[in-house]
Amino acid sequence: MSSIVESEPVAAYLALRARITELVTELTERYASHLQCRRGCSFCCEAIEVLPIEREALRRWSAHASALAPAQHGRSRIPAGQSVDRSVHGTFSASGNSSKCAMLEKDGACTVYEARPIICRTHGLPLAYRVYEYDQSGEQIRPDDPEYTDLWCDLNFRLLEDSHAKRFFDTNGRIDMDAVNSQIEAINAAFLRTPDGARYEAERTRMPLQRQD
Ligand code: SF4
Repeated sequence: MSSIVESEPVAAYLALRARITELVTELTERYASHLQCRRGCSFCCEAIEVLPIEREALRRWSAHASALAPAQHGRSRIPAGQSVDRSVHGTFSASGNSSKCAMLEKDGACTVYEARPIICRTHGLPLAYRVYEYDQSGEQIRPDDPEYTDLWCDLNFRLLEDSHAKRFFDTNGRIDMDAVNSQIEAINAAFLRTPDGARYEAERTRMPLQRQD
């Protein structure tokens, strides 16, 4: 596959995506005996929202992939003549379910698997989200010593009880989604200041990868 010339924020996003993919690979090996994730399982592919930098990365990949012969698409398949940009804005959805991602095929496979957004790469793995607590005056409680809550897939970790999750998912065994999202947001802010980013002026916020019509 020929290389795609990237603007700096897009390159930074792709580098972050590659680092998260490495972490996901490590965690997938660690939890291999638990994971049931497989092609066709699409429980996580619901109400996914992504920032302009992520839509731009998908758009560029789609334009590039569309130019390749179908045999070169690997696991990712885009219907002939359709681009991710069109999908994002709701001109096609294989699922027929408005809350499901527009990138989903009827058999539950992802049409953009190779270029799927970062959040999609974390599907099925334990994720840690920071809990923000405030006192009555509106001051944040323990801003330097935050609490985290863990989310995980019940299909993968069937027998895990809430009370055991903290011990089971140690700091290195889960993905800190606040740290990941902070990095995506910083890259997105830089992207929006570029000429390409300016094209997203009307839709600068997170938007769903779902059918809009
Ligand atoms: S882009 Fe692919 S992996 Fe991500 S939510 Fe959509 S169908 Fe699922």
